[in-house]
Amino acid sequence: LEADAILRKKFNIHVSGNNVASPLKSFAELSSVYGCESYLLRNFAELGFKEPTPIQRQAIPVLLSGRECFACAPTGSGKTLAFVSPMLMKLKHASSEGVRAVILCPTRELAAQTTRECKKLAKGNKFYIKLLTKKLIRSADLSKLPCDILISTPLRLSSAIKKRKLNLSRVEYLVLDESDKLFELGLLKQIDSVVKACSNPSIIRSLFSATLPDSVEELARTIMPDAVRVIIGRKNT
Ligand code: ADP
Ligand code: MG
Repeated sequence: LEADAILRKKFNIHVSGNNVASPLKSFAELSSVYGCESYLLRNFAELGFKEPTPIQRQAIPVLLSGRECFACAPTGSGKTLAFVSPMLMKLKHASSEGVRAVILCPTRELAAQTTRECKKLAKGNKFYIKLLTKKLIRSADLSKLPCDILISTPLRLSSAIKKRKLNLSRVEYLVLDESDKLFELGLLKQIDSVVKACSNPSIIRSLFSATLPDSVEELARTIMPDAVRVIIGRKNT
């Protein structure tokens, strides 16, 4: 569509893939087009977020349309909100049916920060949002933990999987945040064990990072052949 092309050009959004969803003109479209509940838009307003950032304009509709996604945008450009918002919208409400979404972060500090961000965005809707800590792993029945969104490092999560503490077979969304760093840190084995444990065939996976090295994209393509690529600005800067 011509209008989509104009908007993408204006915000320096580059996409590849077939039938890529239209970029957002505003946050209001989340409710008018995608039926978003009012709490989320209220949280954006309270946080002072008036307009979606370029990565949010394109990655949110791609994920809402049910497509997997490789999203690449500079540091500080609002990638967290870009993957958390569609997750909250798709999960709709809290449920006690085990882990429903997983966010992998390269370090414990980033995992803790992402957990705080998630909770801010979910305010007003009683989701179970959990950071996987040692203490949580030691708790007896982690397998029955109500958890809509679980945030962890690959090491901690893969170790919990190995100890058969966690069942990830119902996970509907998996995000690899700062995926370039995840791979740089040599966490391939741990990431692989998480990907395998998330065995739900209709899972939607996505990669978010500041750079998308060819090696990372090639590897990711092997498990996500139909992923839409969204790049803001140039690919590896
Ligand atoms: P990234 O992961 O791309 O490095 P973050 O998700 O950490 O960036 O976001 C960077 C900062 O921008 C955060 O303080 C976040 O709250 C803020 N932010 C996110 N979305 C918006 C928006 N639409 N408008 C203004 N600020 C935003
Ligand atoms: Mg980030």
